[in-house]
Amino acid sequence: MDMDMNSGRDIGMGMDVEALRRDTPGTANRMHLNNAGAGLLSRRTLETMTAHLELEAAIGGYEAADQSRDRVDATYAQLARLIGGRPDEIALFDNSTHAWNAAFYSMAFRPGDRILTGRSEYGSNVLAYLQIAARTGAEVVVVPNDASGQVDTAALANLIDDRTRLVGISHVPTSGGLVNPVAEIGRVTRAAGVPFLLDATQSVGQFPVDVAEIGCDLLTATGRKFLRGPRGTGFLWVRPEALEYLEPYVNEVAASTWDGRRGFTWQAGARRFETWEVSYANVLGLGAAVEQALELGMDEIGRRAVGLGTRLRERLDAVPGVTTYDLGQDRCAIVTAKVDALPTAEVAAALAGHGINVTTTDPLQTQFDTEERDVHPLVRLSPHYYNTEAEIDHAVEAVTKLARP
Ligand SMILES: *Cc1c(COP(=O)(O)O)cnc(C)c1O
Repeated sequence: MDMDMNSGRDIGMGMDVEALRRDTPGTANRMHLNNAGAGLLSRRTLETMTAHLELEAAIGGYEAADQSRDRVDATYAQLARLIGGRPDEIALFDNSTHAWNAAFYSMAFRPGDRILTGRSEYGSNVLAYLQIAARTGAEVVVVPNDASGQVDTAALANLIDDRTRLVGISHVPTSGGLVNPVAEIGRVTRAAGVPFLLDATQSVGQFPVDVAEIGCDLLTATGRKFLRGPRGTGFLWVRPEALEYLEPYVNEVAASTWDGRRGFTWQAGARRFETWEVSYANVLGLGAAVEQALELGMDEIGRRAVGLGTRLRERLDAVPGVTTYDLGQDRCAIVTAKVDALPTAEVAAALAGHGINVTTTDPLQTQFDTEERDVHPLVRLSPHYYNTEAEIDHAVEAVTKLARP
């Protein structure tokens, strides 16, 4: 397998892709087109984590954390910079789902309240909506897509009324290359004064995401996907005004302080949503990954990642017997496709045989999209900035061979 591929100068001119690949051990072994699953760690991130584990073993876990306090704080500051917030508006979690749960389950719902969401909402979020609807008598309303397949913002504006308690939207779905019009959604929710919970798990780290530009009230993301952080990391961003209507759904010694009698006081800012014990190796690894993303620049990262996704989608679309299924006007680095001649699982297995990492979408994890489009499972290919044009073309060639009857 020829892994020493071209430097990719035509997309993302400012990046030294070869140097970035040398700093990414996994690129020597696989063509990694599964960044929507988990991005490859850079050497810097890996070394940051292993150094902390060594330190824990050498001097003790609490002592190692004390010694690393500044860099732990820096992780909050870097995450805040990444999305245009402030460090005290960030809470760290072990994944995006727990971050999202901390926001969603901290809201109060009553019978007749409405939760508005989109067709492309993430599977676990949908299950949480359904649970809370069953428990409280709230109602889940799915906002239709427009003709392009993104959230129809005019329909959203019409559906919002005085029963609407929350608008929960996935920025980029897990099941395709759609980028929802989140700034327009933010304008609608702000005008109506309704909380906007944005699941940015697939967008943060892939292209620029700015909470002020979007106008969301709560944002969640994971570390391991396009941010290239370690597995087992995630975060929540909370607009300060949202603290007025959120009652953290768990209380423990990191979330609040005992007031010495029968009461307690929540921690200031978003820290009230955290729990005490965390993996500091993971937190520091996440910090290293975010620092690297900031150094490279999210504009540059986004241009190259989305550029590679566009190249891949266009070339796959041109192959007879192959169809891509990404919705919307704006599309990103996630590409979903089907080969007429072969079941999706077999396509993914065949690509794995060629050293190409991809995954498949799951109809049960994208419920409202499955209701609308009977297309899943699809093969999901998700390049990132450290992939090369030659890798993209190699993947297209491999799919082309599979598509021949
Ligand atoms: C992966 C994903 C999640 C869940 O993230 P975890 O870190 O695995 O909890 C949530 N939303 C979307 C859109 C995702 O793709």
